Amino acid sequence: MATRLVLLGPPGAGKGTQAVLICQKKKIPHIATGNIMREAVGTGTPLGKKVKDYLDLGALVPDDLVIELMRGRLTLPDCNGGFLLDGFPRTVEQARALDKLLAELKTPLSSILELTVPEEVLIDRIKKRGEAGSGRSDDTVEVATKRLQVYRELTAPVSDYYRQRGGLVEIDGLGSIDEVSVRLLQNIK
Ligand code: AMP
Repeated sequence: MATRLVLLGPPGAGKGTQAVLICQKKKIPHIATGNIMREAVGTGTPLGKKVKDYLDLGALVPDDLVIELMRGRLTLPDCNGGFLLDGFPRTVEQARALDKLLAELKTPLSSILELTVPEEVLIDRIKKRGEAGSGRSDDTVEVATKRLQVYRELTAPVSDYYRQRGGLVEIDGLGSIDEVSVRLLQNIK
């Protein structure tokens, strides 16, 4: 069966880094809503103009906009052999919309993995990423704190949604990139 994976976890958990490694190994597209939106902001497309203020503030872009974007992305032919979702779904409403879309396409998720990392480590990692020049304007302590608050309020319930539905696997996100990568790969179906 194709690998259709959702990678959950708070900002700074290492989702982006791990997603790249998994996608190379599994030869599936890495679909990262944050990357898509940052690129749109960078090139000044109509989508970029709509989402810029949300990204700058560390707030979530409205669900209808993100859901529409993902409906378009997930129906592109490169998703036929599987995909990895990074940064989506970010709200329970997005998770429900994803379930509905995948049911329509008859392509259910094969794995739902959540990277867990203690909060104090997250802030420290994001701060270092900002200092190292990640090119992300939202990697400041101020915006990172806001992003973590948004995560707790709106995105942590997505994990509960999948936990109740069954199939969520928690993966310890502490350790080296390679160590975490091995843990993830062992749990991907
Ligand atoms: P990320 O790169 O995943 O940390 O996302 C960066 C920013 O993009 C977030 O702080 C939000 O402003 C926006 N964003 C990314 N994914 C979503 C999503 N699924 N729903 C709403 N906003 C999102």
